[in-house]
Amino acid sequence: MCVKTKNEAVEISQKEVLDRFLEKHMLYCTVCDYNNGDCEIHNTIDEWGVQHQTYEYKKKPYDKDYGPFYRYDPNQCILCGRCVEACQDVEVNETIRIDWESEHPRVICDNDVPINESSYVSCGQCATVCPCNAMMEVNMEGNLGYLTDTEPGSLTAMIDIIKKSEPGYGTLLAASDSEAEIRKEIINKTKSVCTYCGVSCSFEVWTKDREILKVQPSHDSPANKIASCVKGKFSWGHINSDQRLTKPLVRKEGAFHEVEWEEVLQVIANHFTKIKAQYGPDSLSFISSSKATNEESYLMQKLSRQVIGTNNVDNCSRYCQAPATIGLIRTVGIGGDAGGIIDLEKAAMTVLIGTNTAEAHPVIASRMKRAQKLYGQKSHVFDIRKHEMAERADEFYQPKPGTDLAWLSVVTKYIIDNDLYDKAFIDEWVDDYYKSLKPFTMTFAEETTGIPKERLIRFAYEVAKAESVAICWAMGITQQDIGSDSSTAISNLL
Ligand code: SF4
Ligand code: SF4
Ligand code: SF4
Repeated sequence: MCVKTKNEAVEISQKEVLDRFLEKHMLYCTVCDYNNGDCEIHNTIDEWGVQHQTYEYKKKPYDKDYGPFYRYDPNQCILCGRCVEACQDVEVNETIRIDWESEHPRVICDNDVPINESSYVSCGQCATVCPCNAMMEVNMEGNLGYLTDTEPGSLTAMIDIIKKSEPGYGTLLAASDSEAEIRKEIINKTKSVCTYCGVSCSFEVWTKDREILKVQPSHDSPANKIASCVKGKFSWGHINSDQRLTKPLVRKEGAFHEVEWEEVLQVIANHFTKIKAQYGPDSLSFISSSKATNEESYLMQKLSRQVIGTNNVDNCSRYCQAPATIGLIRTVGIGGDAGGIIDLEKAAMTVLIGTNTAEAHPVIASRMKRAQKLYGQKSHVFDIRKHEMAERADEFYQPKPGTDLAWLSVVTKYIIDNDLYDKAFIDEWVDDYYKSLKPFTMTFAEETTGIPKERLIRFAYEVAKAESVAICWAMGITQQDIGSDSSTAISNLL
């Protein structure tokens, strides 16, 4: 099949589509917060040299709908459906759709309730993919241009007067292009990485002075592409919060007092020097936060090793990761993941153990939700909590707290006992492991975990027969007192 993308018929259709878009979208680029060089409607009109629209703009009988982080303006919405696609099939939060039955169709949440009363999760992908100013971050509104905070009534009157006196859109677009250029001097776009969780989504952060206007993921973001979650996209209110500590506090006579940085650095240096002189360098230890950058953690170990002279340096991520690392080193010799995000998407079956992925690592959860919805990926969830991933799973098991080692070992033993395993691999690489599984009978597992043995047997068959399996586990395993052993058992099952 040959698809022609450029000929007269195609151009007529494209023009007709653009005209129909403009029937739903009022053009006021010069005073629009979205006029920043990347508005797809503006750029298309510019490129095609459109001077007039064929159909007159028709206002719809709706007001803007505001959520805490983004707002929807039905009167600018061209009904392209991108936000719906993002919500339904990319993020798979399944909150918004277009009400095509209505006389005046618009994007609605759930069964047509306001954003604030809906099941929205504020991942923000609808605002990220919207090609114009219809679905937009609240912080953008009135903040991007020199006249964009004009009161709406005056703004509309001004737009009408300008449009009537103009022979075509050319002059208006040229003026708005100049305005977009000028904005570049006041709007900064800085590449950054989200530190809320280990997915490491990256974004461009738009700022004006100290205000964050929006956080924009892009296709070249390695971990997340255009995806985001509420934490990375919107959780930055603390930056300018008046409750934020911006000066160090030192306790004097039982109460904290604000001091200057010079003073507090001297206090810390004095304390460290005194402790080191009295008790030796190993009496001090340094723990770097997982929210710190690699560079900051690097400097922390320099301070620890070279300035103080101790190897007592660590990172708080080890608290939650160490048991998984130990389990992997014991079994496969290296404490790192065996695959990447893409493998989670492509696996025929996922097994989630002790991880509330939809809340802890939402962008990863969306990839799995998408694989389940669109490509039939099977999902089995073992957790003491019935969270979103459990609700969506093909099978959900609720073992008694801290008993995962029992069912993992029993399922592994069952697979070996019933010849469902890769014998050649086990003979070559595994020594006496099987002997350690002797006490793990189905009856023992049922009594210990509370999961009926029939279900465990079914799970054993499914996991053994699946074309490819990815297992994810998190704090529900690693923060058990036997987290290292449970992690080892997971790796052994695989
Ligand atoms: S959304 Fe785009 S086309 Fe519409 S007014 Fe703003 S800049 Fe112009
Ligand atoms: S992506 Fe924007 S313009 Fe398209 S339907 Fe959604 S809100 Fe409307
Ligand atoms: S999934 Fe959310 S919290 Fe984690 S890195 Fe991405 S945006 Fe940040």
